[in-house]
Amino acid sequence: MLYRLQIALVFLAPVLLLAALYVLGDALGVRAPLLGRGYVIRLPLPEAGATVGLPPILGPADPARPLVVIDAGHGGHDPGASGAGLREKTLALALARALRDRLLDEGGVRVALTRDDDKYLVLEERAEIARQLGADLFLSIHADSAGDKEAVSGASVYTLSARASSEAAARFAARENSADVVNGVPLANQDEQVNAILVELAQRQAQEQSDEFARLILREGQGVLEFHPQPRRSAALVVLRAPDVPSALFEAGFISNPEEAGRLASPEGQASFAEAMARAIRVYFARQTVS
Ligand SMILES: [Zn+2]
Repeated sequence: MLYRLQIALVFLAPVLLLAALYVLGDALGVRAPLLGRGYVIRLPLPEAGATVGLPPILGPADPARPLVVIDAGHGGHDPGASGAGLREKTLALALARALRDRLLDEGGVRVALTRDDDKYLVLEERAEIARQLGADLFLSIHADSAGDKEAVSGASVYTLSARASSEAAARFAARENSADVVNGVPLANQDEQVNAILVELAQRQAQEQSDEFARLILREGQGVLEFHPQPRRSAALVVLRAPDVPSALFEAGFISNPEEAGRLASPEGQASFAEAMARAIRVYFARQTVS
């Protein structure tokens, strides 16, 4: 019992001393340390309703110029696929930057990147950035992996489909969409319920434009890029679900194929991609202006 009291006193003594100083300090002329006073910790919080982290729009200041939002897939704690010492998130960002630079060099088009560093964005956020910026076109860039099937190679272009067009597309959708599911619980799972008819009309038009854009990517990429034998696909991809922004997802190739991985990681391979994709984007915008 005595021991317990002694041990308790050992711990209590400094507390009691401090308490005594606070109570009697002024009278005794001894100042107690002012714990926690004099510190102001400010946490900047976004204003209610404000969108967090809208990226800058680059290129001409003229808002009449078409705006393409380029989305480098994955990022942060979500590396995406990996192979040949490459990570999808890193490659996607390099390709996105190459395309951005190419478009800005050629001029006339405004460009924004959903991410320009290694940060994580949930899928809905990516499409939402495009919508908030009033984008005319949205392109998400990814790279694929076929595991140990090293021979599989080639780029493909995805657009949104209500139903996955093939089993492969469905598997792809499940994998790409899984980024927003933590412990089986979706982080964001809202349905568009605002005026279903208007949304559907907008979506139908965006879908036609998305198909046109995808077709142009294949056309302009011919002879410049290596395409998968079945390069045109559709899947239920969350990132393409903006109802009013024509959107496509470009799978640049398989980083599980060492040769393709090397090409995609090289300045030459990235320049080829940027050249073909920039051309497809320009032709797309030119046609939208005419029609
Ligand atoms: Zn991906």
